[in-house]
Amino acid sequence: MNRRALVTGGAGFIGSHLATALSDEGWQTRVLDDLSVGRREKVDPRAELTIGDIRNSDACRRACEAVDTVFHLAARVSIRHSVATFVDDAEVNLLGTLRLLAAAGAAGVRRFVFTSSMAVYADGLPEVLVDEGHKLAPLSPYGVGKMAAEEYVRMMAPRLGLEPVVLRLFNTYGAGQGYTPYVGVATIFITRILQGESCVIFGDGQQRRDFTHVTDVTQALLLAADARHAAGATMNIGTGIGTSVSELAELIRTRLGRGRFDHAERDVTELRYSVADIARAKKLLGYAPRYRLEDRLDEVIDSIRAQPIS
Ligand code: NAD
Repeated sequence: MNRRALVTGGAGFIGSHLATALSDEGWQTRVLDDLSVGRREKVDPRAELTIGDIRNSDACRRACEAVDTVFHLAARVSIRHSVATFVDDAEVNLLGTLRLLAAAGAAGVRRFVFTSSMAVYADGLPEVLVDEGHKLAPLSPYGVGKMAAEEYVRMMAPRLGLEPVVLRLFNTYGAGQGYTPYVGVATIFITRILQGESCVIFGDGQQRRDFTHVTDVTQALLLAADARHAAGATMNIGTGIGTSVSELAELIRTRLGRGRFDHAERDVTELRYSVADIARAKKLLGYAPRYRLEDRLDEVIDSIRAQPIS
C-alpha cells in the first residue's frame, strides 16, 4: 500500500516542491493550505488539495485521517513583518501547530516533521558555523513562535505517540517562491530589478546567509520521514556555505546586467551571521546538499521572468 503524507502549507513555496517530490516517490499526498499565500495551481495534480486553516481543529483532524507522516510547513513566514503582526502570527505558527499536533496524535500518525527556522538562534559570529547547540535567542516574534512551537513538538509528540523531527531551515531559494516585500531576498532582488525598481539592502550588506536550494530542502524533508535515528532530533538544514547580501546583490546584478541597490538602516530582526553547521543532518539523515547558489540563480531568474507581471 502506498504511504500517505500530509503536507501543510503544500500550496506554498517549499510545500509545493515537497508535494511533487513525495508524489514522484510514490506517496499518496494530501495538502492542507488555506491559500492565504499559497496558490492552487502550484499544487501537484497528483496530490489531493484540502483547503483549510490549521487554526481549525476540525480541518486538522480531517486532514490527518489515514496519514502516516505529517510534514508541517504552513506558517506565516515573514520575519520582519512579524513585529507588526505578532498576535496573528502566533495564532498560526504556535497555536495552529499545537492543534495540528493534537490532531496528528489522535489520528495515529507515525512521524511529525516540523519545519522550524534559523530565526530561533541568537546571532552568530563571523566565520563560525551555527550548530544546534548555539544559543536560542530569537530576534523576531516569528523566531519566538518557532522556538516555542519546537519545544511543544519535542515535548508533546512522544506523549501523543508521534515521532517528532524538527528541521531548522536556513534561507531557502529556488523557483516558485511567491514575491512579497518581506520574504526571500533573492526573489525580492530579482523581481524588483526585472520590474525596473531599485532594491534595498538593510545595513552594510555584510550580513551572511546560508542560501539553500529548495531541492536540497525537500531532500532533507524526505529523508526526515524515514531516517531511523532522526526520531526526536532537531537538525539544521543548510549548506554550510555563507554568502553576504552584498555578494548576492552582485551575483544578481552581473547576471541581469543591471540593478540599483540602496542602503537602509539595519533591520533589528535580522541575524548578521547565520550559516549552518550541517554535521548533524549529514549524520542522522544522510543529508548532502547538492546545489550552489551561483549555479542555480539563473533558474530563479528564468522562473520570475516567465511569470505574468502583477
Ligand atoms: P510560503 O509562505 O510560501 O508557504 C506557507 C504556506 O502556508 C502558504 O501556502 C500559506 O498559504 C500557508 N498557510 C499560511 N497560514 C495558514 C493557515 N493558517 N492554515 C493553512 N495554511 C496556511 O512559505 P515557505 O517559504 O514555503 O515556508 C514553508 C515553511 O518553511 C514555513 O514553516 C517557514 O516558516 C519555514 N521556513 C522557510 C524558510 C525560507 O527561507 N523560505 C526558512 C526557514 C523556515
